Amino acid sequence: MGLKAGLEIHQQLDTKRKLFCNCPTELRSTSESTYEMCRHLQIAESELGEIDRAALEEAQVKRRFIYKGYDTTCLVENDESPPLPLNPEALDIALEVALLLDMVPVDEVHTMRKIVIDGSNTAGFQRTAFVASDGKISTDEGIVHIDTLCLEEEAAQKISEDVGGVVYSLDRLGIPLVEIATKADITTPQQARIVAEHLGMILRSTGKVKRGIGTIRQDINISIAEGARVEIKGVQTLGMIGTIIEREVLRQVNLLKIKDELKRRGAKHVKTEIIDVSDVFASTQCSMIKKALKNNAVLAVKLTSFGGLVGREIQPGRQFWDELSDRAKRFVGRVFHTDELPGYGMTNAEITKLKKKVHAAPDDGIIFVAGERSKANLALNAIIQRANEALEGIPEETRKALEDGNSAYMRPLPGAARMYPETDVLPVPISKELVKKIQRSLPELLHERKERYIREYGLNDELAGLIACSERAPLFERIMTLGVSPTLVVRTLTATISELSKDGVPVQLLTEQHFIGVFELISANKMAKEGIPSLLRALATKPSKTASTTVSELGLETLSKEDIEKLIIEIVESKRDFIKERGTDAVKPLMGLIMEQVRGKVDGELVSTVLKEKIAKAMGEV
Ligand SMILES: [Zn+2]
Repeated sequence: MGLKAGLEIHQQLDTKRKLFCNCPTELRSTSESTYEMCRHLQIAESELGEIDRAALEEAQVKRRFIYKGYDTTCLVENDESPPLPLNPEALDIALEVALLLDMVPVDEVHTMRKIVIDGSNTAGFQRTAFVASDGKISTDEGIVHIDTLCLEEEAAQKISEDVGGVVYSLDRLGIPLVEIATKADITTPQQARIVAEHLGMILRSTGKVKRGIGTIRQDINISIAEGARVEIKGVQTLGMIGTIIEREVLRQVNLLKIKDELKRRGAKHVKTEIIDVSDVFASTQCSMIKKALKNNAVLAVKLTSFGGLVGREIQPGRQFWDELSDRAKRFVGRVFHTDELPGYGMTNAEITKLKKKVHAAPDDGIIFVAGERSKANLALNAIIQRANEALEGIPEETRKALEDGNSAYMRPLPGAARMYPETDVLPVPISKELVKKIQRSLPELLHERKERYIREYGLNDELAGLIACSERAPLFERIMTLGVSPTLVVRTLTATISELSKDGVPVQLLTEQHFIGVFELISANKMAKEGIPSLLRALATKPSKTASTTVSELGLETLSKEDIEKLIIEIVESKRDFIKERGTDAVKPLMGLIMEQVRGKVDGELVSTVLKEKIAKAMGEV
């Protein structure tokens, strides 16, 4: 197929303040918004007199952008004040990632402005700084070069969208992120996945990146031989990368087949001849058209030789029609095509009349839309443009990843005219000393840490991986100095915590000191491991208390071995007949009976050993 793919990974950094202002990098609920403002974007030429094709398309629609601000956003996010100098903390993290990827840092960082036309930045551009180049990742299928690493500001978060415009939230705008772009060296979906996983591992190894949904996003550049370069944006899970690539290859292959078929039929460029066909539907029973017709018109265009191709499937569940109608969505709600008719209350007679009106031959397709005349015109023109592109092959586009692995049209691939220098931010020199200093303190990579945990603590592969990648890895290592079971500690720091959290316990209030206190008690045999969940639950509820005072308050202190023996002897005595009847089968039910009384205060294994001993003795006496 000649598949060539490149990845672009965007990862938010966990810095204290934003990239170009002192606001915290904290996400807010829109209900906490303290102000709101509205903006419109105007199109302008670049210094060289060029107009970006993506910006031009956006400018055709007059949209309003509303921004919600907070007491944690300032005039910089509003674009009412110039940016502050580049955040040095973010730059250090970017350099750390670059060095982990064997990249070469630049000697001076220059901030640039990259035009964004969807309103996601109040300035109309996103600030981006080129930090390093020339890295590589080795895979079994060959080397994948890392082209560039940039430090960028995160865009505003989209809250809602309608035909009139978009509502954005400013809390996310300006959070630092690194953008890592590979060369288009990737040749299989599997290789793409491995590269993405490796980059994710490197980023998390720094311990300085944000975690959770939305904090990492992947874009994929894909092309096949004879196809076109397409950028698919917003892939949120690594698991989807392979599917997205497979589906895009399928889409391009099917679009090329449609091109060949059109050629075979002798299709010519579609004329921009838009015809008013309102009279065809004068007495229609189609409610959508009837409603739209009240003050408006039905406009149609003939796609010569496209009949039957419009409805053809190009990805599972998506037709060539989706390619056409995606372009019209920004102007009107619903567009119809003759491949899907009769239907929607339209009759055969109406379709025949429509075909006659536009002089359609049997293998022609007709597209029509009911609505406000100017918008219907824009919609049909957008569709005509896409239909004509189908005669050439595959258009270069920026597309949006859909949940099922398909993709939908977003905008044309931006031209090169969209970057220019940010004159409000001074260049930052990168000294050799700084690079050396960061080089000396590079973190242990997560997969190395995992191997070390297996080696040093005898953890199994799964648990070692779990704790090595967890934010609690440093805490785990501190607890390990107490001489407690590594498996118990990992389970507590992972499974137990997540179970308590699911149960509504505010586990985020638990401090490192709480965990250390708990394992000090375990280490000194002052409580049984069964008591850990109850103790953590109590500590999370009253975090000002210590583990040792709480354990007494809960009565979770371990019973002495003498106390346990006494209790077991009592029970064995009282159940003598039962033991006589059941023999060793009596262990299990009696164990349950005892644990009911002492759960959390004693180690279950100890009870089991003593109980078996006493039952054997009792049976011997019988
Ligand atoms: Zn700010």
